[in-house]
Amino acid sequence: MKPVIALVGRPNVGKSTLFNRMTKSRDAIVADFAGLTRDRHYGDGRLGDREFIVIDTGGFEPDSSTGIVKEMAKQTRQAVAEADAVIFVLDVRTGLAGQDQDIGRYLRQCNKRVFVAVNKAEGMSDSPLLAEFHELGMGEPHPVSAAHGQGIRSLLEAVLDSFEAPVEGEAFEGEGAEEDESKAIRLAVAGRPNVGKSTLINTWLGEERLVAFDMPGTTRDAISVDFERNGQKFKLIDTAGLRRKGKVFEAIEKFSVVKTLQAIADANVVLLLIDATQGVTDQDAHIAGYILDSGRAVVVAINKWDAIDSYQRETIERQILTRLGFLRFAPILKISALKRQGLGPLWKALADAYSSAYRKMTTPVLTRLIQEAVQHQQPQRAGISRPKLRYAHQGGMNPPIVVIHGNALDGVSDVYKRYLEGRIRDHYKLVGTPLRIELRSSK
Ligand code: GDP
Ligand code: GDP
Repeated sequence: MKPVIALVGRPNVGKSTLFNRMTKSRDAIVADFAGLTRDRHYGDGRLGDREFIVIDTGGFEPDSSTGIVKEMAKQTRQAVAEADAVIFVLDVRTGLAGQDQDIGRYLRQCNKRVFVAVNKAEGMSDSPLLAEFHELGMGEPHPVSAAHGQGIRSLLEAVLDSFEAPVEGEAFEGEGAEEDESKAIRLAVAGRPNVGKSTLINTWLGEERLVAFDMPGTTRDAISVDFERNGQKFKLIDTAGLRRKGKVFEAIEKFSVVKTLQAIADANVVLLLIDATQGVTDQDAHIAGYILDSGRAVVVAINKWDAIDSYQRETIERQILTRLGFLRFAPILKISALKRQGLGPLWKALADAYSSAYRKMTTPVLTRLIQEAVQHQQPQRAGISRPKLRYAHQGGMNPPIVVIHGNALDGVSDVYKRYLEGRIRDHYKLVGTPLRIELRSSK
């Protein structure tokens, strides 16, 4: 599982700036937690081939009714509780403030790994100003400049090194485990609270053979359930924060962004559930966006279809187009987990998405497809030269990647890339998976 790192510190020390540095994209997934005046931000980061999740607690505004300190404490506590390690961000220019001491005191009793980052220290890698931060007694302060990108790598290395498992051979991601489970499809069920995740899972488990069930008693309780359908093995990865109560599962907590992100990363196929009675909400779109970024195969199911009338059905059809249009490759099904409707087609869609994500594409076939595509329609001339597509090979799976080789490929337009994608998708009948096209020009 990806480790989770929380950024903690008082306002204006540079947490958001650091967050943006640490995450790949600026479109952080935003958790809108009911009852909180401010959001926490979650993003995905990577250093080399090590991936992690970052939580930023910054960005809250002073609120005279609740008091800024109280709100901050709440944000901090929740982020720290979810995290495996904390980066305590401080500002070298203001020195150690009283509020920093309070946060430090709090962090010390949390029993989490804490790393001290002294920000705004551009060009100050060994300034005497840093000495003051030793006072916190939380290890060597790391001078960084979030704004200028200095010291971030060595800070992250220190944090990530602390996660390196002392146990040898421990699988970090699902990849290794897959062989042993003889190709169980790792399935994550994602969706906001109350969309019907537990209902669907209980319906499934009532119908299908439950092979095994295990729930480690760690702090980050992860449930995984193995079952079979038509001879196909599935491993259901916990997303919902589900707990087993007697024979059934129930959601134990509010929506957990961290669990959702980890489960998506750990899955081969993600089932995104949407509540038809609520329509497609912002948060649904956020989760969908995250799934898209992850490159995972995805199937969308609009649940509770039984509970809406024809007018609502029309409305939601429109919302699907406008709000989830970016997931254009994902099949969208209508189901009722409660009434057990639409579940057969759902299984088929999940299995198809999986086999699409792992489709093997050979170089001769891909090359022929590319050549036929060019014969049918040439790429536009760009400047003096016309792009020349020579051959293609498969560069990866889940998501499938097609690498096209040729000359002057920089000139290939996005429209033409989409055209090629369409031809390849049609030929291989790819559904429910993104398909990435990479162009490589030889000089
Ligand atoms: P947050 O409230 O902790 O999230 O802080 P922000 O990331 O919003 O940053 C607060 C202010 O500090 C902004 O004006 C940033 O531009 C500035 N800032 C952030 N990082 C650096 C840095 O490394 N060097 C300098 N000089 N300013 C920074
Ligand atoms: P979770 O928080 O995503 O696990 O959602 P639950 O499975 O607990 O479902 C929330 C509520 O929606 C419960 O009252 C369910 O009975 C109801 N529900 C779930 N699926 C359906 C459905 O297909 N149709 C209708 N009408 N209600 C449903």
